[in-house]
Amino acid sequence: MKADIGFIGLAVMGENLVLNMEHHGFTVAVFNRTTATVDTFINGRAQGKKIIGTRSLAELTQSISRPRKIMMMIKAGAAVDAVIDELIPLLEEGDILIDGGNSNYADTVRRVHRLKALGIRFVGTGVSGGEEGALKGPSIMPGGEAEAWPEIRNIFTSIAAKGPDGDPCCAWIGPDGSGHYVKMIHNGIEYGDMQLLAETYWIMREYLGMNHDEMADVFSRWNEGKLDSYLVEITAEILRKKDSDGEPLALKILDTAGQKGTGKWTGIAALNEGTPLTLITESVFARALSSQKERRVAASRIFPVEKKTFDGDRNAMLDALRDALYAAKIVSYAQGFELIAQASRTNGWNLDFAGIARLWRGGCIIRSVFLDRIADAFTANPELSNLVESPYFSGELIRAEDGWRKTAAAAISASLPVPALASALTWFDGYRSAEGPANLIQAQRDYFGAHTYERTDAERGRFFHTDWTGHG
Ligand code: NAP
Repeated sequence: MKADIGFIGLAVMGENLVLNMEHHGFTVAVFNRTTATVDTFINGRAQGKKIIGTRSLAELTQSISRPRKIMMMIKAGAAVDAVIDELIPLLEEGDILIDGGNSNYADTVRRVHRLKALGIRFVGTGVSGGEEGALKGPSIMPGGEAEAWPEIRNIFTSIAAKGPDGDPCCAWIGPDGSGHYVKMIHNGIEYGDMQLLAETYWIMREYLGMNHDEMADVFSRWNEGKLDSYLVEITAEILRKKDSDGEPLALKILDTAGQKGTGKWTGIAALNEGTPLTLITESVFARALSSQKERRVAASRIFPVEKKTFDGDRNAMLDALRDALYAAKIVSYAQGFELIAQASRTNGWNLDFAGIARLWRGGCIIRSVFLDRIADAFTANPELSNLVESPYFSGELIRAEDGWRKTAAAAISASLPVPALASALTWFDGYRSAEGPANLIQAQRDYFGAHTYERTDAERGRFFHTDWTGHG
């Protein structure tokens, strides 16, 4: 019997995706560079299942029905090109090759075009949801050669998570590297959400003097309202977790955050497009600063902080904090979608923003009820220039603004770092300002570099230069 799909890469994500496919009725042929892993899998978790172990790429390609569908779930970067190089002589025109790893979208654009020239249909797909999502239903973001979609749609939509209304959290994103681009933004938004929750927790702990169980209770309560999301839910569980000595486990975890690169790529993409993605970028830098532990310890001795604690109405402050978290989260998603829209224009991808919000509603790390509102806003107005301008989110921001401002001011005056909460507020204040201070920047540019400027009393597009010094 030939397999419905071939699968390369049996690490945590790969094994679970294969089991998910088999569970949904597909026969899967599998290969892994270290073939001992194939044996362990076939004799272990895959035993008795419609999973065929193979020990070479040639054997893999011979085990699959045609046109072949092969999915790679391996380390992103050079490894993907190396496997593609090895596979090309073994594939035929019309075969489909899928990269499900966290590849850089620019690599995916290059691979789509390289393989198209050989008649091979290449798909770069984002897969979100971690190990558990891979097994039980991830959110899947495929893009690339559109002709491949009808052939893989059934497998992908079967294994994907289902949203609140039963729709699969998987839809064709668009051409080129758009699937991986959208996955990259998803990961950037994940960085932002995590940073916001970390700042909120820090204010509760350091300013409001709350213990871990009290903080867990607040996050659990918030998880029943507009902030209902996977990340808020696990934050409550993490804060409640005790170490073997009964102390909160969180207290024993070193405060240095790791990162694998998709947040950095999101920031770079924003700089390339000239789109202000302040919150996510600050979140990436906050992780970088967190990792400078020794320098922070040394600096804390040079600049000691006199601890300020809150002595007012704690419940009122917690309401303000909830509003701050919610408002900043709106800004983060608004900025993320603005970047997706800009990339869509730049690359001619014609992306469906409501559809993207919908496929993040299940399976992935940023799943939340909030995404329903985003989908509604883009369904009502697909041309929306920024999410904060939608009737729903503008109302929510106006309502939350007071608490947001109080929280940011309190944190800053208590010397507590809140780069995400504060930069979102600063972006909001800049975005809503009909007039700003950039006239001075234009004057300076014209002064030292004769870069010219537009005038408030002339039509847009007419440029002026002044001899600022009288020296010509
Ligand atoms: P990983 O640690 O990123 O990669 C390990 C896999 O890549 C192994 O199967 C390994 O084979 C293979 N590999 C590495 N270099 C290779 C090469 N030069 N040639 C052939 N195979 C090579 O595994 P993972 O965590 O399961 O992630 C797989 C992909 O999914 C990555 O791109 C990752 O970023 C992405 N992803 C991960 C998650 C997650 O939560 N972990 C979530 C979404 C997406 P050997 O066994 O022979 O070393």
